[in-house]
Amino acid sequence: MNLSDSTDLKTTRTATRVVGAGRRKEWTGAVVNPPVWRASTHLYEDTAALARGSQYNEDGRFFYGRRGSPTQWALCEALTQLEPGAAGTVIYPSGVAAISGVLLTLLKPGDVLLISDNAYDPSRSMGTGLLADFGVETRFFDPLDIEAYTAAFCEKTRAVLLEAPGSLSMEMCDLPQLARIAREKGAISVLDNTWASPLGFAALEKGIDISLMALTKHVGGHSDLMMGSASAGPELYEALRKRAQQLGNVVSPDDAALALRGLRTLSLRLRQEAASALKIAQFLQERAEVAQVLCPMLPGAPGHDVWARDFTGGCGLFSFVFRGGTMEDRNRFVDALQLFGIGFSWGGYESLALPIQPKSARSVMPWPPVSANDAAADRHGVRLAIGLEDPDDLIADIEQALAAWKGA
Ligand SMILES: *Cc1c(COP(=O)(O)O)cnc(C)c1O
Repeated sequence: MNLSDSTDLKTTRTATRVVGAGRRKEWTGAVVNPPVWRASTHLYEDTAALARGSQYNEDGRFFYGRRGSPTQWALCEALTQLEPGAAGTVIYPSGVAAISGVLLTLLKPGDVLLISDNAYDPSRSMGTGLLADFGVETRFFDPLDIEAYTAAFCEKTRAVLLEAPGSLSMEMCDLPQLARIAREKGAISVLDNTWASPLGFAALEKGIDISLMALTKHVGGHSDLMMGSASAGPELYEALRKRAQQLGNVVSPDDAALALRGLRTLSLRLRQEAASALKIAQFLQERAEVAQVLCPMLPGAPGHDVWARDFTGGCGLFSFVFRGGTMEDRNRFVDALQLFGIGFSWGGYESLALPIQPKSARSVMPWPPVSANDAAADRHGVRLAIGLEDPDDLIADIEQALAAWKGA
């Protein structure tokens, strides 16, 4: 196997690319994975070389620790090779740092930012908090309402932050259309693509300008690291890279090595998680206690048709809403689960459950979604992150916990 020429991978299928991406021989040497290069100082041959230092401030060249070393470079290159249309990838110390790194690249005082109303709550508060302090105005829009979205643009709209499916409530919007409209209006579209990853949604190919991910979730995959990434075409990549350098964003080589390790099993894990989640979603759909399953991968569920048209995959994360019951009933259900941890985050190998109340993190979209269209559907929902356990064990666990829900 000779992966010294990284372009070899371009013609391969996704699973093959996930295995080979970023494994340049000059970085790995004679072993399979790039070693962990712990480094702040990069040494120069002599003063003449030092004087040329800034020339070395480019990808794949030693310069200074903040620009990373081969371990981080291998991760960046791997992520770029997995995102069709990307010229490069910047990595950040968390998913939230990736979001702020991207927005602080694109926006300046006086600009207007549009944020999808169902975006991850810290993204929303970045708009209303950090960016407001820097003179950027944020407006929220319903990504399912194309007319209102189109009308939300003004002369000063510089960027649009999208996320699909919606955080907690899992609405699936028409991303190619939203991206096309943004481009027509002269704005840059940014997608938080953490849910599908480029394996499930080839964002740049579908018209998105910058695709970002919380690597903390599926790429890490083992609930033991925090990291984020942003991939883009040549011009925006250069801008992101420059701003990340100004902001001092860097990730440790140890974490980069962990992320690379997680990455190698990404396609396998996503496929298994998605299959298990679908099976569990189908089980929940048949239960009288459940008013609505919010899972775009599930035929007949809200957003399924758009998902089936644009996405090639999904993952184990979805939500459902109880039919009737109280918040205490809902919480009793979550507490009765034995195989699910209770916690934030997702994308690890283990299953998690989270009581959800998206209403407080919405300005214009309804909760539960209008598409729930069931008078009995109330606002008590649960988000499940399905891991790699046997789905039949998870179903049995959910079944016994539903008995606790009814035991009010
Ligand atoms: C978790 C998450 C983030 C933030 O990632 P952190 O690494 O926790 O900062 C961003 N977007 C989405 C969709 C997430 O789920």
